[in-house]
Amino acid sequence: MSLSRIRRLDPTVVNRIAAGEIIQRPANALKELIENSLDAGSTRIDICVSDGGCKLLQIKDNGHGIRLEDMEIVCERFTTSKLSKFEDLSDIATHGFRGEALASISHVANVTITTKTADSPCAFSATYSDGKLVPPRPGQSAGPRPCSGTEGTQITAEDLFYNVPTRKKTLKSSSAEYKLIIDVVSQYAIHNSSVAFTCRKQGAVNADVQTASDSSVVDAISQIYGSNIASELIQVEQAFESQEFKMNAYISNANYNTKKMNLLLFINHRLVESKSIAQMIKEIYSEHLPIGTYPFVYLSLEINPRNVDVNIHPTKKSVRFLNEDRVVGSVRDAFEEKLKSASLSRSFKAKT
Ligand code: ADP
Ligand code: MG
Repeated sequence: MSLSRIRRLDPTVVNRIAAGEIIQRPANALKELIENSLDAGSTRIDICVSDGGCKLLQIKDNGHGIRLEDMEIVCERFTTSKLSKFEDLSDIATHGFRGEALASISHVANVTITTKTADSPCAFSATYSDGKLVPPRPGQSAGPRPCSGTEGTQITAEDLFYNVPTRKKTLKSSSAEYKLIIDVVSQYAIHNSSVAFTCRKQGAVNADVQTASDSSVVDAISQIYGSNIASELIQVEQAFESQEFKMNAYISNANYNTKKMNLLLFINHRLVESKSIAQMIKEIYSEHLPIGTYPFVYLSLEINPRNVDVNIHPTKKSVRFLNEDRVVGSVRDAFEEKLKSASLSRSFKAKT
């Protein structure tokens, strides 16, 4: 191959590549949007989807809204209201901090934001593409337009990956993508059980996920997965002061099992994945459940933020924390103890 000159990439190309790392599929985009709504203090979040999220992903919340003067830069890369200096990362309390999500979505979809803050007399709506304000229709002006609306924010992403055909090809069927969306909404609805969530297909009368506001975690599990799981749950709540973490979990007992493990794991309120925790759970349940069946586990860990690095991956899906083995070991002990005493009391009940 002949030697080519090194050239600086066009910023739009850079941004589109970066966007592809964060937004791999519609469910990733929706996760970011839900986190923004939660960060805005919302108590209601309504989601509407068409074609597995490829044609339409819409989320409406009743949070604090976006100020008119921020609307111009809200979709630019690295613009955030949540982080200002690097040190803030060690005790970040919001889901977001990188200021990349809306920018990324606007680089791979057409985004419309309608928002109203408490002190604004009306709502404003604006359309974005590649991080910037664009006219909603040719010939119209690009700025935010006043409109009617209630307090909160509605964000619509249309035609996801219209400009990334290779990514579009790697997506599954729209029903499979919709299933992933339902999973994300379900998990956030359970972890944030005081917030009312709905998720439906565009035009559908019935929602596929619906939780009431001010639900308990068990209520939310019951509203989403049914009362047959909810009635077989054991709560495991414990603080480990010397290890600087606490846990709250609802784990199924030996009466319940499913073909595919259902693990909802939150670390410091972020939905994450952990191979070591999944493995630990499989091991302890192998003594309680028939071979090839698995439990339902909701586990929320709150670890001293100084011991957790949330900034190791753009999707924030993995986190790294200090003394991982010890923390996982403590969770294991707590689970095992509760499972044993639950099965003891069952066999005791069976005898008497
Ligand atoms: P981050 O969440 O990392 O700050 P985002 O790109 O997700 O970055 O969002 C950029 C900014 O837009 C946020 O910091 C917030 O100020 C604002 N924002 C986004 N979504 C909402 C929302 N639903 N309600 C209120 N403000 C929002
Ligand atoms: Mg965000």
